[in-house]
Amino acid sequence: MRLVIPIVQTGTPTLRTRAREVPVEEIVTPAMQQLVAQMIETMREAPGVGLAAPQIDVPLRVIVLEERQDALKNLTEDEAKARGRMAFDTRVFFNPVLTPIGDQKALFFEGCLSVSGFVALVERHLEVEVSGHDQNAEPVTWRVKGWPARILQHECDHIDGTLYIDRMKTRSFATTEHAQAHFAGKSIADVCSSLGI
Ligand code: ZN
Repeated sequence: MRLVIPIVQTGTPTLRTRAREVPVEEIVTPAMQQLVAQMIETMREAPGVGLAAPQIDVPLRVIVLEERQDALKNLTEDEAKARGRMAFDTRVFFNPVLTPIGDQKALFFEGCLSVSGFVALVERHLEVEVSGHDQNAEPVTWRVKGWPARILQHECDHIDGTLYIDRMKTRSFATTEHAQAHFAGKSIADVCSSLGI
């Protein structure tokens, strides 16, 4: 079985379509279990911290996310904290429903495996709660702040046909290389003022 699936790029119609719900009784079928395995392997291979089924051209409401501790090794503790980044185990949600908690927002750079080679500043809710079913068809709710909350909002957007470029601060849109060269090590406030945001 092929586990790593090509990730489709922006312009693919599936990325702009509302994905379909998966009936709960279908979650434990071999087809759905295979989909989850493919999504996790594809995310790891990319590498990425989240993936939605439409990104492998499957129009279903399924998302996976994880942040491995070893991916954070290149960040200092302060950098990780400033970005709200933290390691967390692999999570799988079928039919996730996202609810923002409170009014606090966070502005940070975001990229997407389906808009390859670019990043931009995106404002997200600082804290969210997501409910759905896991890969065993058990109901799950996860309330979380910071980095995982950003990933959840990004992935839940995907299943509604929304990309981060719909929400980005357009003046901050940059190639990954330029972002690294010109924004790395600067505070978000400094980046915003240098860009006239
Ligand atoms: Zn994405």
